[in-house]
This record gives sequence, C-alpha cells and structure tokens, in this order.
Amino acid sequence: ASGYTLLRDPHHNKGLAFTEKERDAHYLRGLLPPVCITQGLQEKKILHNLRQYQVPLQRYMALMDLQERNERLFYKLLIDNVEELLPIVYTPTVGEACQKYGCIFRHPQGLYLSLKEKGKILEVLKNWPERSIQVIVVTDGERILGLGDLGCQGMGIPVGKLSLYTALGGVRPSACLPITIDVGTNNEQLLKDEFYIGLRQRRATGQEYAEFLHEFMCAVKQNYGEKVLIQFEDFANHNAFELLSKYGTTHLVFNDDIQGTASVVLAGLVAALKLVGGTLAEHTFLFLGAGEAGTGIAELIALEMSKQTKAPLEETRKKIWLVDSKGLIVRSRKESLQHFKKPWAHEHEPVSNLLDAVKAIKPTVLIGSSGVGKTFTKEVVEAMASFNEKPIILALSNPTSQSECTAEEAYRWSKGRAIFASGSPFDPVELNGKVFVPGQANNAYIFPGLGLGLVISGAIRVHDDMLLAACVQVSFGEIICYIYHEACLASIWGAELRKFKIVHLVLVEIPIMLP
Ligand code: NAP
Ligand code: MN
Repeated sequence: ASGYTLLRDPHHNKGLAFTEKERDAHYLRGLLPPVCITQGLQEKKILHNLRQYQVPLQRYMALMDLQERNERLFYKLLIDNVEELLPIVYTPTVGEACQKYGCIFRHPQGLYLSLKEKGKILEVLKNWPERSIQVIVVTDGERILGLGDLGCQGMGIPVGKLSLYTALGGVRPSACLPITIDVGTNNEQLLKDEFYIGLRQRRATGQEYAEFLHEFMCAVKQNYGEKVLIQFEDFANHNAFELLSKYGTTHLVFNDDIQGTASVVLAGLVAALKLVGGTLAEHTFLFLGAGEAGTGIAELIALEMSKQTKAPLEETRKKIWLVDSKGLIVRSRKESLQHFKKPWAHEHEPVSNLLDAVKAIKPTVLIGSSGVGKTFTKEVVEAMASFNEKPIILALSNPTSQSECTAEEAYRWSKGRAIFASGSPFDPVELNGKVFVPGQANNAYIFPGLGLGLVISGAIRVHDDMLLAACVQVSFGEIICYIYHEACLASIWGAELRKFKIVHLVLVEIPIMLP
C-alpha cells in the first residue's frame, strides 16, 4: 500500500502523529508537513476546535468527519471525554442529525439494505470490507428516539450506538457493523424532501416486510455465524416484539429498547430505593407510555419482585400500572389491547388521563416512556409530591425535546424532593441555594457492557437472567466507565474483564504496525 492510500485509510491513518520512522517505512515522506506531534496534542486540538462550534450539529459533523479520517483519534477522544461528547454522538444531538441526515450526508457510514436488495442480501453483506463481525446494531428507522419515522435516515442511531460499543465496551471498531433496513417510510415530509437519502415509497408491511427481515436474519447467520450479536434498535413496537420473540430462539438477538432499557431502569430503581427506602414490592409503579420501553421495564420489575418475594408473576404485576394514549390500561379495555399490554390490564374503573391516574393509583414511582414531551405537568409532579416524601420520577423519553419534564421542573415542582433521572442528559439544577444533580437513565449504561459480555462469553442466546444480572451493579451518578465495567463483570465475563480493559487501551494507543 502506498503512503497516499494509508493517509486516506481511517483505520490506520494517524495524520501528523506518524513518527519519523513510520514516515520512512510507509512512503509518507513529503505527503505530510514536517512536524510530528503526539496523539495527545491532536486530541487537544480537536477538542479545542469542537468547543468553538456553538451549534451541537456542527460538533456532530466534525466528530463524524474525524471518525472517517482517523478512527483511533476519534475513539481516544471519545473515551477520554465521554461526558462531554456522549450528548453529541448520542442523544440528544444524534436525533437532530437523523432528522437532517440527508442534508448533512457526506461519507456513507454503515450498510444500507433496501428493498432493492431483496433476494441479494447475502451478496450485499459481502460488500462490507470486514469479515469477522461481532456486533450488529440494526434499525428500520420507524421509531427513531421519540421522533417517529425517519426512514433510512435512522442510520445515525446504529452508527452512534456502535461507537459506544467501542468507546465504552471496548469492542474492536472493525467488528462492529451498523445496518439500516430501508423498507420505505411513512414520513410525508421526508418523502417530499429533495435531499432524502432513502427509498421514496411508503413502508412495506405484512408478508413483504416479514420476508425481507427473514432473508436478512438468515443471511447474517450464514455470513457471520451464530455468535454474532444482533441488537434491534428503534423498530416500531408492532414489529419489535414480534421480531424479538421470533428470532430470540434461533439467533443471538436482543432489543435494546425493550430489554436494555428495562435493565438500566431497574438498576436505577434499585439504586434509588437506597435513598427512598422499602423493597421493590413495597412500591407502586405508574408508567406513561405502554410500548417497548414501558412494558419492557414493567416486566423486568415484576420479574425481579417475583424473585425477591417468591410471589407469582401474576401477583407482582399488580403493583405496576400503565397509561397509554387512551388512558389507564384496565380490564374493561381488554378487547382493543395489543398483546404486550394485556398482562397490565388490572381491575379498575376507566381513567382517561395521567393526572387522574396519578391521583387514583398514588404511585411512589412515576416513569415516562411515552415519547411525548412536557406530559409530566406541574399538577402531575405536585400530585406525586403530595403523597410521597421522595417521589421517584423518571422522564425517559428522548431526545431532550421529548422528555416528559425537565430536571429543573421535577425539582422545582416537588420542592427539591424528587429523585429524578432522564433519558437524555440535563445539567445540574440550582434551587434555593442547593445543587441537584439529575441521573441519566439511558440504555447506553447497559448495552455496551451487556453486548461485550455476550460476545466474549460466546453466548448464542440472550436470557432474562442475563439482563437481571447486568443491572445489579449499575446505579445512577457513577462514572460511566465504572458502570460499564461493573455491568460486564456482573453479566458474564467475570474477572477476565480487567485483562480486556488493557487490550482495549492498547487498541487505541499503540502505534500502527503495517506489513
Ligand atoms: P412505543 O413502543 O411507540 O411506545 C410509546 C407509548 O407511549 C405507547 O404506549 C403510546 O400509546 C404511548 N403514548 C404516546 N403518546 C401518548 C400520550 N400523549 N399520552 C399517553 N401515552 C402516549 O415507543 P418506545 O419504544 O416505548 O419509546 C418511547 C420513548 O421512550 C421514546 O421517546 C424513546 O426515545 C424513549 N426510550 C428511552 C430509552 C432510554 O434508555 N432512556 C430507551 C428506549 C426508549 P399507544 O400504545 O396508545 O399508542
Ligand atoms: Mn433506542
């Protein structure tokens, strides 16, 4: 390979950090200005440049350009500045990036499988330059964060998620494959957008959809073997539950929105109970939103309660209530309920809105998983604070614009008594001279650790016990890397992890060695 090609290969390019020796060995003389600098100085420069941008989307674009130019530097920067950069490569900024993906599109990232590739998916997988893939994150773009159907432009999500697999889980970048399945979009605005990058047609459904996904799942297993982890991300719930149950018995799959979220929220609750007191079974839970996140979390809480108390699942579920767009889910509504809501239809008279549900159920824990912002109103939070000394309030919906309430609102309306966490990050809040630091309840605290555990252990199926184990050690407010570390430790891999950490550092920091 020529020096010129090396400089344009993001996996090996080091830019000005190529040493004198490397410049001689790889025909780089003259292709770079004379100065040799350290990776540390490169990092400092990029960070300085990033901070000059006022608009988060510009920071996102600069980071994606870096990833396409100098992969090592990108990951080193991300690892060293997780707290500052996570809100850019991940929620909330990645949401805006997906909305404008066509407009800001420069280098393609990840693999696009559209209906045009029907019957040829296996061939298309072979176009991807890497052979040994360990983790795939796949979306069909139908429910991107709380922003709805973004079609093909959902690609930002698998790309962002997988960058965390490397930065926080330590999985080799070349072993990660982001995939977007394009079966069309029902987003009228995108269909009319001249810069839209996807198929300009309405979504395929029913048999056509099922067949395409089946071809995909079979091709993946055929090409990469049965130990490749497939993470389903941001599918609409009418497909998500079905895909998970259909492929859960034949593939190593997990759905991050259903299972990852459940694991991290249960972990947060366990941590919160240390402040509030009482066991899980002594608390009452009310959800706004009964979709993937809501029912996934509810089920894992019920499962853990049942383990702790030895009571059957049917009993422990009764401590958990959910509100959807039509009101409290109750027995009398059973006929019109989707199957994933049925276990939550308890005996109660109909209640049409959240505020009345809060007053009727008197929950100790209120969880927002609706995707609709500003739904935890002043009245709702005040009601929670009227019968709870320390109400636990989780506003999980992403991005920030869809958060059920802000951290400031939760603290102010509860007079500083709420225990609050949100899906997207909020800054600390000052109230009457006291500073409150909100927690972040996001599946990013789980999936890189869980995924790493699955891959390293050679697991071929995901079980609920793994989700429970992974969540045990995770709690709000800790340093992220520590959390990942503990999550992995708790899940499968055990003591081996420390060794891996070292490998991981080596990956980012050693000079390249080319043949
Ligand atoms: P989903 O499966 O589409 O579920 C949304 C639920 O919210 C549905 O039950 C829907 O009711 C209900 N809903 C919608 N509008 C409502 C309203 N105005 N009032 C009451 N309920 C309403 O979506 P999801 O996958 O659960 O995701 C929901 C949100 O959670 C998204 O914003 C996502 O970003 C967030 N999330 C966060 C994390 C995290 O780690 N923090 C993880 C996953 C998801 P119907 O069933 O009646 O339509
Ligand atoms: Mn998601």
